[in-house]
Amino acid sequence: MIDLRSDTVTQPSPAMRDAMAQAEVGDDVFGDDPTVNELQRRTAELLGFDAGLFVASGTQANLLALLTHCGRGDEYLVGQTAHTYRYEAGGAAALGGIVPQPVEMKPDGTMDLDLLFSYIKPDDPHFAPARLLALENTKDGHPLPPGYVTDAQARARRHGLALHLDGARLWNAAVAGGVAPAQIAGGYDSVSVCLSKGLGAPVGSVLVGTADFIARARRWRKMVGGGMRQAGVVAAGGLFALEHNIDRLATDHDNAERLAEGLDDIGGLSVIDQATNMVFVRLDEVDPLAFGRGMAEHGVRLLANPVTRLVTNLDVNANDIEHTINAARTVLAAA
Ligand SMILES: *Cc1c(COP(=O)(O)O)cnc(C)c1O
Repeated sequence: MIDLRSDTVTQPSPAMRDAMAQAEVGDDVFGDDPTVNELQRRTAELLGFDAGLFVASGTQANLLALLTHCGRGDEYLVGQTAHTYRYEAGGAAALGGIVPQPVEMKPDGTMDLDLLFSYIKPDDPHFAPARLLALENTKDGHPLPPGYVTDAQARARRHGLALHLDGARLWNAAVAGGVAPAQIAGGYDSVSVCLSKGLGAPVGSVLVGTADFIARARRWRKMVGGGMRQAGVVAAGGLFALEHNIDRLATDHDNAERLAEGLDDIGGLSVIDQATNMVFVRLDEVDPLAFGRGMAEHGVRLLANPVTRLVTNLDVNANDIEHTINAARTVLAAA
């Protein structure tokens, strides 16, 4: 099957599995796992931070960041459709008593900064004090414009806010912009990155920050049950991914561009957006479920919705893209 549901669906390659099998391990709750330590050191270095913390998922990385930045009754500003707010089961509110202030997001992942900062409330007992601004890069595949990021950061600092970046797909932003990952990660107090999306590791994310911030996040990680023992077996997949799978994201971006171009020539659907490794398609004249079933019969898996997101990834090559375009043409011609 050609699986375009997400970039999380990739299988660890034989070479990655080999690196995992060979990993030197220890008890990471004691700080004894050399492979975890190396992954944390290497990720922090790549992103220009002092320290890193290996965690189970991007959701856990963002949760630990929020718990570390904000106390009970504090507020954080976040995009209405940002992962941290919308797709993490309300963890910061449920577990940390942290109040979200969601802000309308544009399709490119930016927010109107005047609107955003207008949500900061006066210093008055009626209001939760704002502590943090959380951004997301990339958002629906879109790298944030560098000028927007600098403006948002400068204005947040003037309001005394801390800054967190949900950089689950920061690697895609760096490759698309032709800049070092540290440049995308610059100006924030903490950044979370995923190893298990475009980079193709089976499990894991890393949260980076100052040494003190990471020490406090480590206690929260233990509290939410995220202290893992011989986690080096898994971390080795992440180290392998950092070494081998960042630059090749350019191939996923090329494939997504070609997919968008090929699909756009077909009647019955319209390509409404494409950025980095994501393509968004509106199904105009067909039932999405019927389209999904038809594509599956041609060996293509996708999450069929009125607006369907297709995500290129490590396990999809240029031939698969041509196959997908041809399959869509056949399925829609028969519909
Ligand atoms: C996937 C994702 C996460 C975290 O995902 P997990 O499935 O918990 O690893 C966080 N933020 C963004 C933007 C994501 O795409």
